[in-house]
Amino acid sequence: CLPSNDTAGPAPRHRTVGVRVGSVMVGGGAPIVVQSMTNTDTADVDATVAQVSALARAGSELVRITVDRDEAAAAVPRIRERLDRIGVTVPLVGDFHYIGHQLLADHPGCAEALDKYRINPGNVGFKEKKDRQFGAIVEMAIRHGKAVRIGANWGSLDQELLTHLMNENAASPAPRDARWVTREAMVQSALLSAARAEEIGLGKDRIVLSAKVSAVQDLIAVYRELARRSDYALHLGLTEAGMGSKGIVASSAAMGILLQQGIGDTIRYSLTPEPGGDRTLEVRAAQELLQTMGFRTFVPLVAACPGCGRTTSSVFQELARDIQSWISASMPEWRRTYPGVEGLNVAVMGCIVNGPGESKHAHIGISLPGTGEQPAAPVFIDGRKAVTLRGPTLAQDFQKIVLDYIQR
Ligand code: SF4
Repeated sequence: CLPSNDTAGPAPRHRTVGVRVGSVMVGGGAPIVVQSMTNTDTADVDATVAQVSALARAGSELVRITVDRDEAAAAVPRIRERLDRIGVTVPLVGDFHYIGHQLLADHPGCAEALDKYRINPGNVGFKEKKDRQFGAIVEMAIRHGKAVRIGANWGSLDQELLTHLMNENAASPAPRDARWVTREAMVQSALLSAARAEEIGLGKDRIVLSAKVSAVQDLIAVYRELARRSDYALHLGLTEAGMGSKGIVASSAAMGILLQQGIGDTIRYSLTPEPGGDRTLEVRAAQELLQTMGFRTFVPLVAACPGCGRTTSSVFQELARDIQSWISASMPEWRRTYPGVEGLNVAVMGCIVNGPGESKHAHIGISLPGTGEQPAAPVFIDGRKAVTLRGPTLAQDFQKIVLDYIQR
């Protein structure tokens, strides 16, 4: 018999305490937030302002920047000021490792200009030094009214905690495997640090947790455990996901499964760009994941068939590509002028096999003539055949129909 359809759709969102980061709410039932990170030298104000602006304009709702030395910390208030001047209001998150406590103390302008501080509990110091330095950053967040992300990372896991758990596991009557111990160390590193931050006086409504690993199954296991044991807002991301399709597929698989289980309040794709490549790819990938899973809408979707031996001319691929890039380029203006345009679905299909059927499911669809078909392209609007296009101006005519529809 067929499985019941009762459980179709994502699980209810795991309840977390909402955290305000500048103007953006993370968790507490707020829409899942898209975030990204720059790869410029933060001390280079021009380059960092340009990249933060590009990421924000692509749709990143939070942008993280590296703050690794005095020059970078000194640049942060200037970056904020320049962004504000050009109307880019995206909240900034400072990524601190090793000496964050010192940088925040020595650069109060930086501490104030950032909206959230990211602390890695694995490299904030050892033993008493760790307590002192971690505490200093948390106190700084309390003083400036900022949020903190406690971000454990597989590659810089708290060695003291890992050793302790390994010894404890070895002494137990039923020891678990090494992978379990490492996953548990990730979970405990995040949770113990969060508990410490609360003891110091940072409210739960200022704490976001992450525990990033680079393998899909480990990521799923670690976040399920974090969600089971706490109600902190959760930042999802597969660390060191890699380049190109590998990074996108692995991140989508891991985060897609967690989001389907109701876990995750903000997401980032940690993709390695090609040299000189476009950093905004990680923003588009995050938006597309959320949109294809039905959690949010960002841009009109263009459905296109893959093409086959029935699409031997390049007209079909060119039209699909041109419509996609025309829509992407027009979105900043359309968003201001036509509220709700994000929900539009357009279908560009290669022939009559699936063309009319798929086109009828979209708001507007076109079924191009495949090899051997009549040189005519029926256009469907809201499920009904509206017109048939022909001739060399077919692409422009179709764009005009899409624009008329949006304007109406
Ligand atoms: Fe091929 Fe037509 Fe199917 Fe497109 S819709 S993949 S052109 S058969």
